[in-house]
Amino acid sequence: MNIPHKNLIFLRVSSNKEKKYCLKAGSFFSGILAKGNFMESSPGLLSSLFIKMASLPQSVGYAIDPVTYVFCMDSSLDGSIKSWQKVNKDKAEARLVSDLEIDAGDIEKAWLRTLKGPKSKRDADKIEIYTLRRAYKKLAEKTLGQLKKRIGTRALEPSDFKNNKERMELISNTVQYQENALKERFSKKKFSEFNNKLPSPQFIFSPYFPIHHDDGWFNVMKSIWSDFLNFYKGDNGVCVLQCSIEMLDSHGDELKKFFDEIKPKHVALWLDNFGEDKASVDDLVVFGNFVMDLNKLYISVFNLYGGSFSMFLYPFGMSGLVCSSGYGEAKGVDPISGGLPAAKFYIKSRHTRESVATAYDLLVRADMGETLENYYKDVCACPICKRGIEQGRIDIIRFYGELGEEVMCKDGVARRFPTSNAMDRCAFHFLFNKLMEYRAIKKLTGSEILEIFKKDIETWNDVDNGHGHLQNWYSALTTLSQKRSLD
Ligand SMILES: [Zn+2]
Repeated sequence: MNIPHKNLIFLRVSSNKEKKYCLKAGSFFSGILAKGNFMESSPGLLSSLFIKMASLPQSVGYAIDPVTYVFCMDSSLDGSIKSWQKVNKDKAEARLVSDLEIDAGDIEKAWLRTLKGPKSKRDADKIEIYTLRRAYKKLAEKTLGQLKKRIGTRALEPSDFKNNKERMELISNTVQYQENALKERFSKKKFSEFNNKLPSPQFIFSPYFPIHHDDGWFNVMKSIWSDFLNFYKGDNGVCVLQCSIEMLDSHGDELKKFFDEIKPKHVALWLDNFGEDKASVDDLVVFGNFVMDLNKLYISVFNLYGGSFSMFLYPFGMSGLVCSSGYGEAKGVDPISGGLPAAKFYIKSRHTRESVATAYDLLVRADMGETLENYYKDVCACPICKRGIEQGRIDIIRFYGELGEEVMCKDGVARRFPTSNAMDRCAFHFLFNKLMEYRAIKKLTGSEILEIFKKDIETWNDVDNGHGHLQNWYSALTTLSQKRSLD
């Protein structure tokens, strides 16, 4: 028996702006991954993108992450499924009643407020209401079944899924949602000829909620995974495991035992806020061990939010990784959205992204790339660097760190943000580097990877005083190779 899929690299698309990264670099990836809420807010853009990618000579696939977990997060906080939205004063109550599926008498005062700051003429009759974001409401309607009524007023709880009916409804809806997202878009008669030619998703994800230790969600997820595998018989079904590294440490054996019983073909991991460059050796070993052990059970493991360490795990059994042009090398479960975009420069020999100022400082301290010749040799010779770097590392500040005019922020402080050109350059330089890294790594064995690491560690040892993330990765991979040779 073989692991069904190996050495895959996916590109996540999270916003309309990121479409250009898919169009220009997507053909080098194994597939494009989009979140369900984005599919609901930009169905036209994503459908046409998926069809375009599938029609390329090497046919790039797509998958839709159903993000069901968002419905069990506290929606009274910023960056949740709800937000403050402007509406006409006389329509505010009706909107809340319809959005939240409640009676007018249940509207709380805290969900309405007057507009902050000076009002324009157009806003004279408007107020703000705290209500569901449209994309999440649509996603809930398509995935949750009867439970969609609850999310207007509270987060979903494990007890909501104690009955088979609610759980099976969630599972069948979530599967059908992913299978039909494209078809639904093209269901109109004028597209009927087209309908048979629509590409199907590369993978179908199970619904998922974050599990913590022994709380009720752990049991709910066990039932969801096994019901999902009974319901969806395709070879491309993926059980999603969203938990903390602590959970993997304390309950890893129980999880492995359970997966051995239900035998999924694929498991997708989302480790809550697990920054691989900040992680301890012990945590990296827990993570690597889990991947290796699932592999022994012939389960392929994908990391939904991983950095370069996850890619170095390919020879140890990692099957796939999702890259993102913006955020995405680690992501917290909560909040579900938020954060300001930053221009970050990927340093190839360090395998991490840093702010442009930090990256420049690190290159100076490691004595790398001062001249153009050295820059191409030691830092990067991707097409973007070839275009913008003229003298050497000093140019990254001008080219990758380019700032726009000052803008006044909500907090009253004037700030300058990276220009969209600078963001694009950072993103493309990063994606080119990841692809180069990926192509090199997928051919290597574990011991060859350790050899490469030695060189990278030497480069950065003086700068990091021997305690950097590279040293941790090296130690963890050494432990994993020893374990593998003992098995
Ligand atoms: Zn570059």
